[in-house]
Amino acid sequence: MIYSEQTPIRFNDPLPTDVDVVVIGGGVVGISTAWYLAKHGVSVLVCDKGRVAGEQSSRNWGWIRQQARDPAELPIVIDSINQWQTIANELDENIGFTRQGVLYTATTDQQLAEYERWLDVATQHQLDTRMLSGAEVDQLVGDKPGQWAGGMFTPSGGMRRRSLVNAVYGQFGNQFTPADGAGHGRTHSTRAGHLRR
Ligand SMILES: Cc1cc2nc3c(=O)[nH]c(=O)nc-3n(C[C@H](O)[C@H](O)[C@H](O)COP(=O)(O)OP(=O)(O)OC[C@H]3O[C@@H](n4cnc5c(N)ncnc54)[C@H](O)[C@@H]3O)c2cc1C
Repeated sequence: MIYSEQTPIRFNDPLPTDVDVVVIGGGVVGISTAWYLAKHGVSVLVCDKGRVAGEQSSRNWGWIRQQARDPAELPIVIDSINQWQTIANELDENIGFTRQGVLYTATTDQQLAEYERWLDVATQHQLDTRMLSGAEVDQLVGDKPGQWAGGMFTPSGGMRRRSLVNAVYGQFGNQFTPADGAGHGRTHSTRAGHLRR
């Protein structure tokens, strides 16, 4: 089914009469919020105007990057990557979470010097970030050797290859009420506006 202005997604099913929390948006933020709330016994309704995992959360590249972050962001990013590890362990579905490291490559000494300035921040947060020589980058990348001046590498950086939202929703969706897009076959979609009394 292709949705358009002529064939809009509509919500047809009854909504719960009473919930503790309504989450608007079934992306990674909404679904993980709903999941953590449900785990603590809070009743949750998740509403999406389209489909669960139908927007950014289904099309990103999957990097969970610590390096080169603003210092103010780093504590939450470090906590987040640990949460990803915990969630990945709890899920039945393999979301392809790995900590294989994040690498920034540099083709010029000027770029390298810019990266190097960030090392102080890494040290302050006990990150394992280090500078690599061109030869070390060649070893890691394994493609077209000799083109890199060097790089900055954080071995504890992460990545996930499959959708966390779909995995969480598939496994734990019965713990909260979804009012999502037609893609999941349970309900139809709702806009936040439909909940206004
Ligand atoms: C191409 C690309 C690559 C990316 N790569 C990375 C990466 O490598 N690493 C990284 O950390 N981040 C990356 N991101 C960013 C990351 O995907 C987003 O930060 C994240 O998915 C946002 O999640 P979200 O739940 O806030 O939003 P979304 O996944 O967009 O979910 C929001 C949901 O809210 C719904 N909604 C909106 N308004 C309403 C309304 N009024 N009523 C009901 N529902 C509503 C939408 O339909 C949607 O389903 C990338 C993003 C893109 C686009």
